[in-house]
Amino acid sequence: MRIVLVGPPGAGKGTQATVLAETLSIPHISTGDLFRANISQGTELGRRAKAFMDAGDLVPDEITIGMAKDRMEQADAAGGFLLDGFPRNVSQAEALDEMLKTAGMNLDAVLDLEVEEDEVVKRLAGRRTCRKDSSHIFHVAYRPSKVEGICDIDGGELYVREDQTEDAVRNRLEVYHTQTEPIIDYYKAQGLVSTIPALGEVKDVTQRAMDALKK
Ligand code: AMP
Repeated sequence: MRIVLVGPPGAGKGTQATVLAETLSIPHISTGDLFRANISQGTELGRRAKAFMDAGDLVPDEITIGMAKDRMEQADAAGGFLLDGFPRNVSQAEALDEMLKTAGMNLDAVLDLEVEEDEVVKRLAGRRTCRKDSSHIFHVAYRPSKVEGICDIDGGELYVREDQTEDAVRNRLEVYHTQTEPIIDYYKAQGLVSTIPALGEVKDVTQRAMDALKK
């Protein structure tokens, strides 16, 4: 299956993407994770992306689209993938359509994780990410680690991501409304969108997403 996961920052996209990709045995492709990996490896791409990310702005398309395409063309993604955080604007969605069309492929579903704005801010403020592996995500209230500040899975240090400070969060929400939300209408026109209420327990949200995919 080829799936796109959309939703505002704080909707739990990363958490859901990890579980769904594992359940469906397809790679989880997160452009945010790819950028962070480039930053920690000190690559030129990472250096170019960092300032945009720290401010909560989108990294320019000419950097993002090529990086996403390279990842989707790797062998493990030949049978399908779950995209988390890409596309994030209409021109990226168009580029993805073009890329898939050239390969004779299409998207199967777009899952739109829906959550109230107040809830988003509350969620993001408490979020803690593992320095060793950014897919290890905890929350001071909803998913506390056993030892404060330490990842349960690999003992890595937990930290507040630079783009999750209050100012950056506000900016990311604004960017989401103005640039990313329009892709939902773009995909609705293709009949691909399922709206998933993202409130409640992680496993309940996963179940709703799986139910939508079966339809
Ligand atoms: P995420 O981990 O998905 O929240 O992404 C973190 C940051 O990476 C975003 O706030 C953007 O600065 C950047 N980013 C991730 N994906 C994209 C994308 N598709 N287009 C532009 N910027 C992106």
